[in-house]
Amino acid sequence: MLLITCPHCGPRAEIEFRCGGEGHIARPGPHDAVSDAEWADYLFYRTNPKGEHRERWLHSAGCGQWFNVARDTMTHQISAVYPMGETLPEASPAKEAAR
Ligand SMILES: [Zn+2]
Repeated sequence: MLLITCPHCGPRAEIEFRCGGEGHIARPGPHDAVSDAEWADYLFYRTNPKGEHRERWLHSAGCGQWFNVARDTMTHQISAVYPMGETLPEASPAKEAAR
């Protein structure tokens, strides 16, 4: 089981959270200039990397807030937790320690 540190509540068990899938997906637009292929890609296709993946998580049994997580899909090690609307710094201390 993962121990996830909610940026609002602190460390909590994985069962309190719901994964919302890949993070940082930009909605294409303007809507009248988006092709069917671009819209389908936005709605249905996600990356499935082997290694670090940036995801959205919801603290559904806690504060109800969404936040971003950088998680390794092989080891499940979480290298960063950061607020929505922010991007993961490229040289975060946790990421450097994992190298
Ligand atoms: Zn929380």
